[in-house]
Amino acid sequence: MRPIALERPGAGRSKPFVPDLVYFEPDSLHYPKGERIMEWVKKENIPYRMTTSHNRITNLPGETELEKYKIAKRTLVVGIRKTLKFDTSKPSAEYAIPIATGCMGHCHYCYLQTTLGAKPYVRVYVNTDEIMDAARGYIQERIPQLTRFEAACTSDPVGLEPITGSLRELIEFMAGQQYGRLRFVTKFHHVDSLLDARHNGHTRIRFSVNDKYVIRSFEPATSTFEERIEAAGKVARAGYPLGFIIAPIIWHDGWEDGYAELIRSLAQTLPAEAARDLTFELIQHRFTKTAKSTIEKRYPKTKLEMDMDKRKYKWGRWGQGKYVYPDEQAGALRSFLSERIAEHFPQASIEYFT
Ligand code: SF4
Repeated sequence: MRPIALERPGAGRSKPFVPDLVYFEPDSLHYPKGERIMEWVKKENIPYRMTTSHNRITNLPGETELEKYKIAKRTLVVGIRKTLKFDTSKPSAEYAIPIATGCMGHCHYCYLQTTLGAKPYVRVYVNTDEIMDAARGYIQERIPQLTRFEAACTSDPVGLEPITGSLRELIEFMAGQQYGRLRFVTKFHHVDSLLDARHNGHTRIRFSVNDKYVIRSFEPATSTFEERIEAAGKVARAGYPLGFIIAPIIWHDGWEDGYAELIRSLAQTLPAEAARDLTFELIQHRFTKTAKSTIEKRYPKTKLEMDMDKRKYKWGRWGQGKYVYPDEQAGALRSFLSERIAEHFPQASIEYFT
């Protein structure tokens, strides 16, 4: 098994994800995508096993819980998406479109820590045609309103695109949907295979960015800031609507300088095409009690501040509430970032701050 690389590789480019171990549901091999992934796995000499269900991988290697977690993050499971009922995805879209679950990134604050619980391995689904049929049904129900689908609710699909090609299929499908729109967000830069896809302006590609301190401290095993911005320039030049999600916005020593530099360097680096149709989404850092205890176990040395006494408790609609910044701090973050964005990108719209 390959060594587990959590640190960013020196000055080199971040390489596309190659799992250490792959599981296949036997029926997934009856789909062209499943077959293609199997061919790739054999060519790359990656060990593989069969499994009865992508939801029950019980024999993952690893001695301790932490070791199992790290190995799971480098384990790919290829299966069929059985539930074709989509979750809602407010505030960024009407529905979450499920093409993958789990992520090989190691962002300390990631909410998948909690939502995926004991199943942090990376699942990809081969029945994209059935998933698109279901999306067509959701679009029909809402005509004449537009229906937006978010493809990154449970994963980072750009990081998996070199393996699956699923985003390209969704983009081309949505290009033909008068009332359908696709959006996804990523911390990876593997967009080259999407650049010549027929998108018809119906897909907004957003990059998750942050200030240097946050990226350096909390986002191992993702693409660098420079790689993300270079990829953003490429998708803008390919005519895609572009967006940035600044999340999680973290209050730390020097945050004003850090976030001012972030917006300035976006403005200095992006090509003119980026400003044509540009959005920002702003999300302050939040955590639940469960997330805090999971993060402390999985990243015991993390510098992520999760002091409940310094936060405001926000009741959740479904059960457990979240700890966010007190109103004064949240307001300062919001107005500081909004002003910097307005200064450098006067035409861009800020979709929300939450
Ligand atoms: S890249 Fe996104 S989905 Fe992956 S671990 Fe980081 S925050 Fe989570």
